[in-house]
Amino acid sequence: MAKRDYYEVLGVQRNVDDAELKKAYRKLAMKYHPDRNPDDADSQEHFKEAQEAYEVLKDAKKRAAYDQFGHAATNHGARGPAGFDGDVGDIFGDIFGDIFGARGGRAGARQQQRGSDLRFAMDLDLEEAVAGITREIRIPTLGECGTCNGSGAEDGEKTSCTTCGGVGQVRMQQGIFSVQQTCPACKGMGQVIKNPCGSCHGQGRVRETKTLSVKIPSGVDTGDRIRLAGEGEAGMAGSPAGDLYVEVRVKPHRLFERDGDDLYCEVPIHFTTAAIGGELEIPTLNGQVKLKVPPETQTGRMFRLKGKGVKSVRSHRQGDLMCKVVIETPVSLSKEQKELLKQFQDSYESSNTEHNPKSSSWLDGVRDFFDRMTS
Ligand SMILES: [Zn+2]
Ligand SMILES: [Zn+2]
Repeated sequence: MAKRDYYEVLGVQRNVDDAELKKAYRKLAMKYHPDRNPDDADSQEHFKEAQEAYEVLKDAKKRAAYDQFGHAATNHGARGPAGFDGDVGDIFGDIFGDIFGARGGRAGARQQQRGSDLRFAMDLDLEEAVAGITREIRIPTLGECGTCNGSGAEDGEKTSCTTCGGVGQVRMQQGIFSVQQTCPACKGMGQVIKNPCGSCHGQGRVRETKTLSVKIPSGVDTGDRIRLAGEGEAGMAGSPAGDLYVEVRVKPHRLFERDGDDLYCEVPIHFTTAAIGGELEIPTLNGQVKLKVPPETQTGRMFRLKGKGVKSVRSHRQGDLMCKVVIETPVSLSKEQKELLKQFQDSYESSNTEHNPKSSSWLDGVRDFFDRMTS
């Protein structure tokens, strides 16, 4: 299971203050406390999850690190983000293809020395997410040591481990069983360093902040992850590097709300326009378009503007823009305007035509309701 966002776990905003954070945690802790929910595995999970989230977010330093790097900051070395969408990651396959191949290498023995994966949260405006963007990011990480070129050896010299014969694994006899284990002498590397590099103490990697240019494809949405193969932490003493996962978070937009490929917006319209019809200027992500509002348009009516939504990175389907019109009651009317409306109302009441279908059916409902009460 992929870990849930800590803020989401506690049900708080990202800018939550300490007091609110504590309150949110206490509420959850009370609700899911094992004493209150004996033998309920689900509650126990929730309890643990909330506890973990609070442990990190209550600490200013840990929280800052989490905000920038997500779970990778709190749980270095955790592998395999479940639910990761490979399709998005593969977009970058050709760009980083040369580094891509570095993964895997020799058998299982060396894999445990592979560099950790990193996660970077990138906040985007809706426009940026829809159009795609190339952005420079700076991430503190462990990079290859320049002095020894990542080998970890002062003179670049490594000798095959004599304990395991360079395999990285040893066989141990336990009773009647023969068990394969990681070689304790070389820690699975198969090689030992005679003179460790002074700069990195034989680790082959050093702390650094690296700048990367990340290309975000058009149509991404919150939760999409882009894998930059080999851009995570450098591996130990020449082992393959980890990957960097850039996770997209789209900021709320003033006008539009996104649901899959479709965008939703609410447009206030004048009650006269709603009654006699007219034309509206509708904002879209690529400029204004005109929308014809037919006469007798009721509030809440939804208009679909075909193809004015988002082209999703996954489906490549062009979504629509859904416009909900909301009739607005005018304010700050002048004396003259009020007089005109009064005249309108009088003409309205004296006419015999059915003007208000909703009110009529509502009044019927009310009548029916009282009839039944008294009968
Ligand atoms: Zn070094
Ligand atoms: Zn060994």
